[in-house]
This record gives sequence, C-alpha cells and structure tokens, in this order.
Amino acid sequence: MIILERVSRIFRSRGEAIRAVDDVSLEIGEGQVMSLVGESGSGKTTTGKMIAGLVTPSSGRVLFEGRDIRTLDGAARARYRRAVQIIHQDPYACLNPVRTVGDTLAAPLQLYGLADGRSRNAGIGELLERVELTPASAFVDKYPHQLSGGQRQRVAVARALSVQPKFLVADEAVSMIDVSLRISLLNLLLKLRQETGVAFLFITHDLALARHFGWDGRIAVMYLGRVVDVGPTRTVIEDPHHPYTRALLAAVPEADPHITRTKPRLRLRSQDPPSLLHLPSGCAFHPRCPWAESGLCDVIRPELTHVRAQEVACHVAVREGALPDLAATT
Ligand code: SF4
Repeated sequence: MIILERVSRIFRSRGEAIRAVDDVSLEIGEGQVMSLVGESGSGKTTTGKMIAGLVTPSSGRVLFEGRDIRTLDGAARARYRRAVQIIHQDPYACLNPVRTVGDTLAAPLQLYGLADGRSRNAGIGELLERVELTPASAFVDKYPHQLSGGQRQRVAVARALSVQPKFLVADEAVSMIDVSLRISLLNLLLKLRQETGVAFLFITHDLALARHFGWDGRIAVMYLGRVVDVGPTRTVIEDPHHPYTRALLAAVPEADPHITRTKPRLRLRSQDPPSLLHLPSGCAFHPRCPWAESGLCDVIRPELTHVRAQEVACHVAVREGALPDLAATT
C-alpha cells in the first residue's frame, strides 16, 4: 500500500545541508504495522511526514497503491489525502483551540461528504464512543483547553478515524501522555487497529512500546537518517543484529516484563549521538560502537544486507552471521 523507494530529505540550516533522511526504503502492506524506532534526530518523524504528504522528499519516491504521490491530482489526490492520516505527538498543538470537539470532528465529515445534518451529530457521537470519550454529550461542546492531554489525544484519534483511513501514521502518539494513561491509549489504538484493519506506521523512541503495539508486525530501526536494522518485531527484539538496536534494548526500563528476559547489557563508547551536520565517516555509529573495527567501520559505510530474517547495516553482524558476544558488553 505504502512503499518508500530510496527516499531522502535534505534540509538547509544556515547554508549547510542536513540529511534528515538518507536513502530509506520501506514497504507497508494493507492492514500491516511497521514500527519506526530511533532516538530524537534519527529521521523518524520526517519519514512519517513524507508518507503523510506533509514533507516532500528531496529524492526518491513515496508510492501509494503503486502511484508516486507527487503525481496524484484531482480525485486520486483527494483519495490519498483521505486514506492516509497522521496522529501527531502533541495533541494540543494540532487541535484548533477555538473549535469545540464537535466542530473539530464535524469538519472532516463535512469535507468528505460522510455525514450531514442529524447524521453528522450521530457520527460525532459514535466517533467519541469509539475512542472511549463517554458519554459523548459530556465532550462534544468542550474546547481543547478543557480536556486533559489524554482526552485531547483521543479527540485527535477520533478525527483521524472520522474519514475511515486505510493508513495511520502515529508519530509518538502516546509519548506526551501521562505515564499512567499511556497504556490505555496504546490499547485503544490496538483495539481500533483490530476493528478497522487500518495499517500503521507506529513511530516511537521506545522499543517496549513498539513491541507492545506491533508484535505481529515489523520494526525498522533508524539511526541518523538511515535504516540500520529491519525485520519482524519478534526477531529484532529477541535477537537484535545491529549494535544500535542492542543499545536501544539496553535502555528499556528494567520494569518491562517482556524485554528484560532477553535484554543484553551494553556499554556504548559514547552516549551522545553525533551532529547531523558532521556525520562520522564510514558507519555513522562507529564512534559509539563497542564492536567497531578500525580501518573498516570508520572507512566503509555498511549497506542493509540480509542476515537470516532481518536486514542489517553492520559489517561485523553481516560477516559473522549475527552480532558476536563481546567481553566489553559484560
Ligand atoms: Fe559497529 Fe562497525 Fe557494525 Fe557500525 S559497522 S555498527 S561500527 S560493528
């Protein structure tokens, strides 16, 4: 349904080029879930925005149902706009502060001719019930500032659902919500996924959330604009082949019962990612990587290569057929 073909995005800052996304290829079929995982600055959000048509690739193509989204016009463009929706990280920033919840949900229903008059009010009520804002009558006349962060995000989810999308980009959709409410919102997204069969790009910095939401899907791990590890969620988490994926796993809090069992300990050579303005030579992870080999990793950039069920961009993992244990990790 959505295919990214060698997509890159370059921004300019004070005359310097910043490659926020670099040669990324991904494929997400109907009803599938792909979790996009990485630290801040890894290019996850820019990738999601390119899929949603909010940012134009500098090179490469985004295909929706086989067609380059830049070539869509008229009815085809409207169909794509309706089919692909995005839920942003900050629900307060993306809701109009002077519109009530009812008006916010009425606008897309009206735009796409999905409901009018009495059926519009019924449609708004049904949407609020689906995101568990009940009774709907208690929320329909509220403004965003009268809602909690979790309630605002549920309104944002309802707005995305209102147009019956085929594909949702959830960009850190639960990360600004109070910790105690995060799992209930995540479970709501899971329930909606099961009910509607909508496909997801689930963007998160947290591997534990990716595991919880997309256990039956795939994970792509991004580092400084590139995908470095991609494969079925289960194998990426149980047997991570890329040192950076191991580092992300090591950062999952001990309290996560699903991941501690398989989580290896790992000490990076540096905790700080390099600037996108001054990317390291060779493998961009080499200044932090305990497995780095001088004369190889600092010289040659590794490309994504199949290693069993995964694809990994790491010289050592590809050569050894898996990431070997290191004394330095204990
Ligand atoms: Fe580490 Fe080298 Fe693999 Fe990069 S290519 S992740 S530096 S071992």
